[in-house]
Amino acid sequence: MLENDQLAQWDRENFFHPSTPLGQFARGELNNRIVTGGKGVYIEDREGNKLLDAFAGLYCVNIGYGRQEIAEAIAAQAKELAYYHSYVGHGTEANITLAKMILDRAPDHMSKVYFGQSGSDANETNIKLVWYYNNVLGRPEKKKIISRWRGYHGSGLMTGSLTGLETFHNQFDLPLPYVVHTDAPYYFRRDNLGQSEAEFVKQCADNLDALIQKEGPDTIAAFIGEPVLGTGGIVPPPAGYWEAIQAVLNKYDILLIVDEVITGFGRLGSMFGSDHYGLKPDIMTIAKGLTSAYAPLSGSIVADRVWKVLEDGTDKYGAIGHGWTYSAHPIGAAAGVANLKLIDELKLVDNAKDTGAYFVQGLKDAVGDLPIVGDVRGEGIMAAVEFVKDKDSRTFFDPTDKIGYAVVGALLERHKVIGRAMPQGDILGFAPPLCMTKEEADTVIAATKDAIETVI
Ligand code: PLP
Repeated sequence: MLENDQLAQWDRENFFHPSTPLGQFARGELNNRIVTGGKGVYIEDREGNKLLDAFAGLYCVNIGYGRQEIAEAIAAQAKELAYYHSYVGHGTEANITLAKMILDRAPDHMSKVYFGQSGSDANETNIKLVWYYNNVLGRPEKKKIISRWRGYHGSGLMTGSLTGLETFHNQFDLPLPYVVHTDAPYYFRRDNLGQSEAEFVKQCADNLDALIQKEGPDTIAAFIGEPVLGTGGIVPPPAGYWEAIQAVLNKYDILLIVDEVITGFGRLGSMFGSDHYGLKPDIMTIAKGLTSAYAPLSGSIVADRVWKVLEDGTDKYGAIGHGWTYSAHPIGAAAGVANLKLIDELKLVDNAKDTGAYFVQGLKDAVGDLPIVGDVRGEGIMAAVEFVKDKDSRTFFDPTDKIGYAVVGALLERHKVIGRAMPQGDILGFAPPLCMTKEEADTVIAATKDAIETVI
C-alpha cells in the first residue's frame, strides 16, 4: 500500500475534485481525507479515524456502509455478465427484475422505468420526454419548465438551470431559456413574519398561477419539485402546499415531475415522497437510494398518461432518439435489486419513520432554545438546524459568517460526526443512513449541542 503522504501528494497533483476550492486544495490549505472503509453509519479513513456519517455520503448510502449482500450481488453480476446494452429490446434479468420491483413500490398509475446513471441525467431525460410528449401532442410551443428557487435537480446545463441556487448559475451563464423559477415553500424565510402558514401557502399557489398567466399557459410544459427541498436547506413544505400547487397545475394541463432522488425508497418514512404528501406525479426521478450508492444508477418513472403518448410517438416517428451507453447497467441493476430486498427485510422505511421522528424531536429539544438557533425542522430521517444572528427579529447570518461551517468543523473535530453546512453555510443538515439506531441518533444530538455551544 502507498504511504499516506505519497497518496495525499498524488491527490493534490492529479485529482480534480468536484465542489472543491481548487486553489486552496492544491496549495495544501484544505486537508485530504482518504476514505478506506465503512460499516453501518460509520466510515473510516487512512488516518485511522472512525467517523459517524450523519449525511450518508451525499444523502445516498441509505442502507448503511459495508452490506456484504449488495457487494456479493455486484460481484456475481460482474462475473456472469458485467455489461450488455439495453437498446432495441435487449436487457438482463437484473434490470428487468429491478423495473418490476420499482413499479411494485411506486404509485399505481406509474407505468414504466427508464434507467440512467445519475440524478442529473435522469432529469435531463425527463425534460426531453416532456418536450417529446408535447411535440407528439401537436403543441410544440408548450416547452417551459417551472422549477423552484432553492430546488436542486442536478448540475448539468439543463438540470443546473432547473436548480434554483445561484452558485449553480453564476459563472455559467445559466439558467438556460425554457426555465422559469417560482417561490420556495420555505415558511421560515417568509418575508412577512405575521403571515400564517395557510396564507403563505395561498401566496405560493397564487404566485405560481400569476407566473403561468404571465408566461402564457400554452408555453408551460411541466413543474419540477422535490417533495422536501433537499440541498436548498432541508425544508419540508408547509401543510397543504402540494395540494394547492397540484390544483394550479391541473388547471393548466401542466405535467408534474416529482424529483425523488433524495426522498425515494424510504427517507421520509414512506416508500416515496409522493406517497407521503399525496402527490400524483407524471414523472418521478429516482437515484441515490435506489442502489444506496453501491453502484451508480438512476431512473425516470413515467405515468400511464405519458407512456401512452410516447408509444404513439414512436409508432409515428420511430424509436426515441435518446439513450446512454450505460442505461440500465447490469451491475447497477444487480445492486438495486439486492438493495431494495434488504430495505424490505430490514424494515428500513419503518426505521426511518420511527428513528427519524426520535432524531428530529431530540434535536429540537437539545438545541431549539440555543441563542443562534432559529429553526429546527425535519421529516422522516432528514433534519436541519437553521442559524440566525438574532432570534426575535429573525435576522439571518451573512454567508461570509460561515457559521454552519464552524459548527460542522466542531462536530467533526470534537465528536467525529459528519454533518453538512448548506447551501450558503447558515444551515446544518443531516440525512443519516436509514439504518441509524436511536443510540447513534443520541450521539449526533449531543454532539450537535456541544458543537453549537462551542462556536457561540
Ligand atoms: N435531484 C435531487 C433532488 C438531488 O438531491 C440530486 C443530487 O443531490 C440530483 C437530482 C442530482 O443527482 P446526481 O448528483 O446523481 O446527478
